[in-house]
Amino acid sequence: MQENSQAAEPQPASSKFVYDFTEGNRDLKDLLGGKGANLAEMTNLGLPVPPGFTITTEACRVYLESGSEPPALRDEVSAHLAALEQRMGRSLGQADDPLLVSVRSGAKFSMPGMMDTVLNIGLSDASVAGLAEKAGDERFAWDSYRRLIQMFGKTVLGVDGELFEEAIEEAKRAKGVAVDIELDAADLKELVERFKGIVSQETGGGFPQDPREQMDLAVRAVFDSWNTDRAKLYRRQERIPGDLGTAVNICSMVFGNLGPDSGTGVAFTRDPASGHQGVYGDYLQNAQGEDVVAGIRNTVPLAELERLDKPSYDQLMQIMETLELHYKDLCDIEFTIERGKLWMLQTRVGKRTAGAAFRIATQLVDQGLIDEAEALQRVNGVQLAQLMFPRFDDTAERELLGRGIAASPGAAVGKAVFDSYTAVKWSRSGEKVILIRRETNPDDLNGMIAANGILTSRGGKTSHAAVVARGMGKTCVCGAEELEVDTKRRRLTVEGAGKKTTVIEEGDLISIDGSTGRIYVGEVPVVPSPVVEYFEGRMHAGADDADGLVQAVHRIMAYADRMRRLSVRTNADTAEDAARARRFGAQGIGLCRTEHMFLGERREMVERLILADTDSEREDALGGLLPLQRADFVELFEAMDGLPVTVRLLDPPLHEFLPDITELSVRVALAESRKDANENDLRLLQAVHKLHEQNPMLGLRGVRLGLVIPGLFAMQVRAIAEAAAHRVEAKGDPRAEIMIPLVGTVQELEIIRDEAEQVIAEVEAATGTELGLSLGTMIELPRAALTAGQIAEAAEFFSFGTNDLTQTVWGFSRDDVEASFFTAYLEKGIFGVSPFETIDRDGVGSLVRHAVEAGRATRPDLKLGICGEHGGDPESVHFFHEVGLDYVSCSPFRIPVARLEAGRAAVQSKGSDSR
Ligand code: ADP
Ligand code: MG
Ligand code: MG
Repeated sequence: MQENSQAAEPQPASSKFVYDFTEGNRDLKDLLGGKGANLAEMTNLGLPVPPGFTITTEACRVYLESGSEPPALRDEVSAHLAALEQRMGRSLGQADDPLLVSVRSGAKFSMPGMMDTVLNIGLSDASVAGLAEKAGDERFAWDSYRRLIQMFGKTVLGVDGELFEEAIEEAKRAKGVAVDIELDAADLKELVERFKGIVSQETGGGFPQDPREQMDLAVRAVFDSWNTDRAKLYRRQERIPGDLGTAVNICSMVFGNLGPDSGTGVAFTRDPASGHQGVYGDYLQNAQGEDVVAGIRNTVPLAELERLDKPSYDQLMQIMETLELHYKDLCDIEFTIERGKLWMLQTRVGKRTAGAAFRIATQLVDQGLIDEAEALQRVNGVQLAQLMFPRFDDTAERELLGRGIAASPGAAVGKAVFDSYTAVKWSRSGEKVILIRRETNPDDLNGMIAANGILTSRGGKTSHAAVVARGMGKTCVCGAEELEVDTKRRRLTVEGAGKKTTVIEEGDLISIDGSTGRIYVGEVPVVPSPVVEYFEGRMHAGADDADGLVQAVHRIMAYADRMRRLSVRTNADTAEDAARARRFGAQGIGLCRTEHMFLGERREMVERLILADTDSEREDALGGLLPLQRADFVELFEAMDGLPVTVRLLDPPLHEFLPDITELSVRVALAESRKDANENDLRLLQAVHKLHEQNPMLGLRGVRLGLVIPGLFAMQVRAIAEAAAHRVEAKGDPRAEIMIPLVGTVQELEIIRDEAEQVIAEVEAATGTELGLSLGTMIELPRAALTAGQIAEAAEFFSFGTNDLTQTVWGFSRDDVEASFFTAYLEKGIFGVSPFETIDRDGVGSLVRHAVEAGRATRPDLKLGICGEHGGDPESVHFFHEVGLDYVSCSPFRIPVARLEAGRAAVQSKGSDSR
């Protein structure tokens, strides 16, 4: 992701558009694409790669900008082709012994929508006989030719692929056989005629017989595929620049379909699920290209190759070791064996599960292949977060119902419900429910909140269900297309294999795994994550029963903690949360909200405060709240003894503490009709009316409350100061920081500061202790960020409230926009990820950057932190490291993620400094 957001590197105006595989290397991904760069790397390692060359992304860029290939390209390709022909001793499509090639797309980042590879380019009516003759295998030649027409027809000429598939099925049916290898030369020859007929019919022209024309058309089709809708959408969402272009690889053909001593396979250098070293892969005899992964016939495990072809197997094992040592990482590979000779067709650093990423990183350190800093780059916070969700018990029996898209991780079990009303009703009576919809819309919001998990049959990772569920941190599987959801009859059906139909009715138990997308019938037992058990201190990494994963996580976390510059604090309001956060590695509290201290039984005191007519009534109400808050703070400071605790004074609008306006109106109306109106209720109703706001988010809240309600903030400051004094007396080490929310201008802060300082001085004098309290503000309004230089005069620290800052910078009301139109925005690619999930670097981020610089210019020792939800988001942590904050603060559960990413960010910025 980091890499993706970079713009295309400017290329020197070179006229070199073609690189032989011997000329490139793996660092040239910008120019040669991932596939081309790695083919060159393998070639230069001396591995058996079929010779070939790569047309650069630069050539593609010229084509995309000007609408035609750069004039020099044709000659350059001719020169490289001539060299290839000379080396191979035959020319492209030569009638009696044709050289054949594959044309393969390959951009810097692999992406869906790009053109599929076309194999066997160069075959024609003229050369098919030559190929048969040379190979001594007529069937093979016709099979290769029909594959070419099929692939070329579909991907280059845009013919519906189904037409070819149907023709194959028909041929098999006519002959009464089940699989393609049972078709003989004569059948395939007939099929070629059928295919050519399809091409003529669909395109109005024939299948091109000139080999060079075939090649040129295929190259152009690869260039064009850069701009398919699917590729464009993917790039927008992944923030891959639209102007990188793709490279094209021309690779001489090798044949796995030359009989039982030939075949094609895929392999990993270690197990991508566990990281264990061993033999992992699949092999298919007598097959070409994608056959091995397409499921047309049953593959055999790679280990089987040892028996089938020992020399090739041994050589392959050797090569896999070479690749691992060279890339210093797990690689995946594609290979083909042609009559007992092994050929390497592709390699790249392989994808892996989250658990394997941690294990492999530490295994590679132990092997001495990478150092600790590099190990940190091999894992990320998203993977760690995945490992921290509870999982379904691997050992428990389960019945798979279907699969969807893993949209929001976690393991959720509950009773199936098909509408939001039922979800809310059942969950109120204590039931756990899974809300199942075809797709969700804003009307489903309450149901989604009530549900344990959400399952939909339509929509992808950016669908409403997925976006909202992720925002809520709720387990979600979406787009499970095989499920037939019938909301009217309140049930879902799945056509399983062998026409077995499973029906789930409302109330039936169902289990969904948001980390894998799997859906199970009934209740699958859930087990806690061992990684969380470890962070909680209930499992020790050194213990005998600690598994390899926990040990790996333990080691990686130690690396991260050693490297990172950012401190990590937590957002916690209670002693219990604080204690947990400490176990997870929190170095203090970055945000303690105080609003919960005004709820429950204390609400009545808040009502009295709001209704107070006279100073003495108000002081009375505040006086009642003071000891309660003080006791809360004492507990909190004790739990965080020796570490900073940032306490935010009251932030939300007051009406949140008053009864609901409708309820109260009804109560008062009823009482009036009975003629026994309650004086207090009447006053309360008036107050509720008075405090009602059109836009509470932008209304009377934060510092504005402190300025308008006399004594409110002073009471909170007194409670904090007295609690701190109490802790000092108890030989504790309280480190409280008082934070003023929603400041827009320094004047607001100055007034509150003067008042606070006076209170603190009083408490210090009365208790005879020096409290060392510091006073700062949140930066969560654009004006505060813009005038940060002035605000820093009155603040000892800033804490960026990036939730509100995002709302106010974008003019978004989060609760409204996430549910209503974010899906549309994501689908249109306006942003790739919600700005509430990952900090918007360009907009919100640039205000943060400005405030950091302006604040530090005024007060060089200004302490800087962030307490929005972005504090636990991997990409955002990197940004906060870059702009030079002192700490991030996040919810207790996200602390390990923040620690890890802070370590990774430190390593990455060191890397780029020295470059
Ligand atoms: P993808 O990016 O979809 O993996 P590839 O370019 O790797 O596409 O090619 C698709 C399939 O064709 C792969 O199985 C690959 O190994 C095979 N293939 C590509 N080029 C050749 C070739 N020159 N000879 C034999 N097989 C090839
Ligand atoms: Mg491939
Ligand atoms: Mg706020």
